[in-house]
Amino acid sequence: MKRSILKNRRDFLKTSFAGVAGMTLLSCSSSGSEKDEAAKDDLVYRKLGGTGIELPVVSIGTGDTSDPGLIRAALDAGVKLLATSQYYGEGRNESMVADVVKERGRDSALIMTSAMPEGFNHKEGIFDENARVEPFINRFEESTARLGGYVDIFLLPFMAKRESVFYAPYLNVMENIKKQGKARFIGIATHSHEDEAIRAAVEARIYDVALVAYNFRKNNRKETSEAIAYASGKGMGIIAMKTMAGAYWDEGRKEPINSDAALKWVLQNEHVHTAVPGVMTFEELQKDIALMKDLSLNDAEKSDLRLSLNEKPDGPFCQQCGKCIPQCRKSLDIPTLMRSHMYAYGYRNLSHAHETISWALAETDPCRGCPSCSVTCAMGFDIRGKIAKIARLNNVPKEFLA
Ligand code: SF4
Ligand code: SF4
Repeated sequence: MKRSILKNRRDFLKTSFAGVAGMTLLSCSSSGSEKDEAAKDDLVYRKLGGTGIELPVVSIGTGDTSDPGLIRAALDAGVKLLATSQYYGEGRNESMVADVVKERGRDSALIMTSAMPEGFNHKEGIFDENARVEPFINRFEESTARLGGYVDIFLLPFMAKRESVFYAPYLNVMENIKKQGKARFIGIATHSHEDEAIRAAVEARIYDVALVAYNFRKNNRKETSEAIAYASGKGMGIIAMKTMAGAYWDEGRKEPINSDAALKWVLQNEHVHTAVPGVMTFEELQKDIALMKDLSLNDAEKSDLRLSLNEKPDGPFCQQCGKCIPQCRKSLDIPTLMRSHMYAYGYRNLSHAHETISWALAETDPCRGCPSCSVTCAMGFDIRGKIAKIARLNNVPKEFLA
């Protein structure tokens, strides 16, 4: 289907999505080998809720790579949905993804992105008195330009408490973006209070999808699973992120989590329509794609997942439960600091760790003057020690990490 024969952008969006939804496979470039084509027979598809789009259950998150070759390989393998964000490398990740997709036709893949809301209090999970929509709209427009004039799926990230989802100025902005046809589908992303955010997003009645932090280590997985089932039943498309649960059991990266088992655990929930594991290497990509041959967990994989019953206190995975905040004498935004720690020590994505810590902290020794640490962590973390390690990132100019 050629763009030139379409009347306008809205027609293009409607038509191209109908095309994508109906296709068994993406119209990939001729670079796909016979092996790639054969491997596509093993892909497992699910419908992304009421959007009607059929997607392989494995999509990818692009935030951990700056290698366009990896994106090309994913598309060659049959991946349809690429998850990026405006705040990954200040738009550079979006541009890299968009350039690869445009090589084979902008409508050959779906690009999901998000922009940082202004005045969002990460610690409380709500908008605060500094909330303004204009910077967010500008960021969305920048994303739109980078991605070729439209966004396939646009997300409002960091939604947590119901109050944040129903914050009227942002609800109106998101609804307008969809009505104007600038994004074909809209949704929320949530890293904490996931069940509350998902249910609120359904009740808001404007959202098509929810991107949800969901994995076998989350203490709230029962509540989140119930909310996911509820939302899926109401026609919401469910996309899982943070599926690798920190990638390592230990901070020293000597004990990797069984990534196949972790991703299968997520995909065994049929209300999860696709997942966006971050990929850094061709090997990881290959493994993620290949596991669609058999989504069942074998005994060894089940055993590997049960290691979470004996969590290591020096691991990089934080529950994002927020139980530490009221215990801290300085009321630090510890969950955001620990998320930054996880990006640095678990995923070795220092650029994203640097960006994330900037939302919580500008100094390098926030615990200075505190006589002792009063925080007991749900994961048994040495909170003060981990903060001391990650806060050093604030001494590193961000251009060194790009
Ligand atoms: S640091 Fe510990 S208590 Fe705080 S959010 Fe993470 S897991 Fe929960
Ligand atoms: S040592 Fe740091 S984390 Fe612990 S209570 Fe004091 S300021 Fe909070």
